[in-house]
Amino acid sequence: MKFKNFPIYRIEWVTSIFLIGTALLSLTVVPWFLWTKYSQVEGWGFIWPLAIFYYYATGFSITLGYHRLFSHLSFKAKWPVKLFVALFGAASFENSILDWSADHRIHHKHVDEDEDPYDISKGFFYAHIGWLLFRLKPKPPVNNVKDLEADPLVMWQHRYVQWIGLVVGFIMPAVLGWSYATLRGFEHPGMTALAAFLIAGLLRTVVVQQGTFCINSLCHMVGRQPYSTTHSARDSAIVALLTFGEGYHNYHHEFQHDYRNGVKAWQFDPTKWIIWTLSKVGLAEELRRVPDSRIMAAELKEKSLTLGRDIDNLAKALDAHKRQLKEKTIAAAHELAKELGVRAEALREAAANKAEVAHETMVELRAMLNEAAGYLENLRRAAGSAA
Ligand SMILES: [Zn+2]
Ligand SMILES: [Zn+2]
Repeated sequence: MKFKNFPIYRIEWVTSIFLIGTALLSLTVVPWFLWTKYSQVEGWGFIWPLAIFYYYATGFSITLGYHRLFSHLSFKAKWPVKLFVALFGAASFENSILDWSADHRIHHKHVDEDEDPYDISKGFFYAHIGWLLFRLKPKPPVNNVKDLEADPLVMWQHRYVQWIGLVVGFIMPAVLGWSYATLRGFEHPGMTALAAFLIAGLLRTVVVQQGTFCINSLCHMVGRQPYSTTHSARDSAIVALLTFGEGYHNYHHEFQHDYRNGVKAWQFDPTKWIIWTLSKVGLAEELRRVPDSRIMAAELKEKSLTLGRDIDNLAKALDAHKRQLKEKTIAAAHELAKELGVRAEALREAAANKAEVAHETMVELRAMLNEAAGYLENLRRAAGSAA
């Protein structure tokens, strides 16, 4: 898009002023305040923990609440959890549960297509924040959240979301700071209130927003695609650190109704751990999990499709002599790719018939995937030393 053709009439003014304004204040006023007034403010021992609480409360309200609970119905939650999400989700200033979920369900249905509200093929900036600053097309009518419209709490939050956000997100940190300072008999409770507002309110809002915006940008750019290459979503442990565990996005786009994004036990997915913990104390139930055999079938199929191609690409980087030496590895990899395809199909059928898959079979299939990784690594090293 040429700059002179920039669609000024499509700018979302209120959203743009809020997003850019809070970001600029966080980059200017907050550091200036910390630099010049830090020693004049009493009660940092209260303010920092308050800010950390707000960071996690609002961040998880988006990932656990807006995303996995309301958009994907990946588990059921009791009302205290939903109320918490409604209040602190509003305080993250990412719109209402209803609007967020409507956009997100379209994103999954039309990922990477023109209808995708945060389509990554329009670039990092657009997927990250651009889609909020200006709309390329008028907003489509909301018709994919009928289930949520039947929930009175969701509708209440939708109606008053900006007010709830203002009170819970900005006013409450200031009031809490002021109350703490007054209780402790500090000389300038106003300064404690101001500091609490700037850190737990303003700065925290910007940091959480940028983190969750990464789900739409980085999660579609950085990482591996072990489950499917039919869409742009990717798995990355580093992005998971920034996004409260949402970085395993390739898995998520393949199995969107699973309450886990990092499906492996060791993957960093704190949102998953909290949902699991809530289920243990009776605040969540009916956690949806995709059976291991279906997940494995997806992995095998993907490897069967990409292994041959990847091996050929690596082989091209080798000189004639090296390629001859590696001939056996290349042939074996192609053989394995075929075998993986057959096994994927058998496993997919077994999963579809809900047939029990023996543990030994799963171990054997995992070993085959490791073997594939071994062939790739072997050639990658050979190609690396050739360069
Ligand atoms: Zn996505
Ligand atoms: Zn999703």
